[in-house]
Amino acid sequence: MSTALASALRSGTDPYVPRHGDPGFDVLHYDLTLAYKVDGNRLDGDATLTCRPLAETDTLQLDLYGLHPQKVFVQGRPVRFTHLRDRLTLKHPARPGQDLTVRVKYSGKPRPVPSRVLDAAGWEELEDGAIVAAQPHGAPSWFPCNDRPDNKATYALRISAPPGYTVAASGELQGTRRSGNAVTWSFTQTAPMASYLATVQIGRYDAIEQTGAPVPVRTLAPSRRDDTVLAATFGRQPEMLAFFSRLFGDYPFDSYTAVITDDDLEIPLEAQGLSTFGRNFLDTDWESVRLIAHELSHQWFGNSVTLQRWRDIWLHEGFACYCEWLWAEEDGLSSVQAEVERHHDLQSRLPQDDLQLSDPGPALMFDDRVYKRGALTVHALRLRVGDEKFFELVRSWLQEHRGCSVTSEMFVEHAGQVAGEDLRDLFDRWLHGTELPPCPGRES
Ligand SMILES: [Zn+2]
Repeated sequence: MSTALASALRSGTDPYVPRHGDPGFDVLHYDLTLAYKVDGNRLDGDATLTCRPLAETDTLQLDLYGLHPQKVFVQGRPVRFTHLRDRLTLKHPARPGQDLTVRVKYSGKPRPVPSRVLDAAGWEELEDGAIVAAQPHGAPSWFPCNDRPDNKATYALRISAPPGYTVAASGELQGTRRSGNAVTWSFTQTAPMASYLATVQIGRYDAIEQTGAPVPVRTLAPSRRDDTVLAATFGRQPEMLAFFSRLFGDYPFDSYTAVITDDDLEIPLEAQGLSTFGRNFLDTDWESVRLIAHELSHQWFGNSVTLQRWRDIWLHEGFACYCEWLWAEEDGLSSVQAEVERHHDLQSRLPQDDLQLSDPGPALMFDDRVYKRGALTVHALRLRVGDEKFFELVRSWLQEHRGCSVTSEMFVEHAGQVAGEDLRDLFDRWLHGTELPPCPGRES
């Protein structure tokens, strides 16, 4: 084993989420069979991972937190393993060119993965059901995975839950089957997906199908709700989806689902093909409606085209915030330029010396300044190259990297190539400087 690989196995592959990920192999496919008991929050899992070794090694590591592996098999044979805190280490020779099947049988009471600097993330028990909100390090709370955002895989998921509950997941529902006192829901995800974007949602929901979008759109809502408010807010999703598709190219997945939990949640969160909102966001106020547009736009920016490293989070959040402003203009509530000026004013009153957009550090990766300054960067780029080139470069970026993982450097290079000019000065100021640049487009 190389020294670099050995050190990555100890420390993880991304300094923003220490002790996650093994760079020595990629998972190509996850096959997950899960049984969940809502009463008592008990999960039994049987996971089969198709793994492709990238380096010669005799040790494979998986991320698994708070659950107990009972048996581990490689190529169908039981292997020795250790499970320390959140790392499941298997002893088995691996070499490039020979794919391996790793099977883990496990169980326990799932709970969110804590972090020293980030909020806990992952499987979360609700009053009556459960959600998974895994960004950025919560995937190991419900299945053994190689938890690197740059390792995308396809998924098959079967999960059983008590009758009376609706189950949604990041994938297309293939069917349900009742057996004994449980209903098994089967999903497949054929578009490559990062582990943090995999999700399961279990609750007593009504499924509301919405028409008018190029793909099926649905909202899963609790029975305790105001349908007039629902129609005026989540009811607009097909229009939003059609609008973003016109601007950025086809919606990248087969459907979109918004889940509104019966519980209040601190923030909404995107997963692949699905977003989760607390009931407190079922509100006609712009501060709630903007988040419906925001989470939907993540399907293009973050879920289809995903960062390789967490330091590049502005590529997700900057564009998603910019999409809020685009929707505000489309819906006649404001103009993009007015939003840019309003947010630039707000940003200019905040401390600036501790924030660099290209590498904000784990403690600030979800800081509102990353989101808003990221959106201001997008606008500065748009004004510099003009509308035609701007939308052309964003569309071709999304098209060329669909289902793949990217970096800021790749975006800067792509933007310059399509625009036909050197844009490094603009990105140097916005991404690498700490001082907030002047407001783009403001007429003084
Ligand atoms: Zn976001």
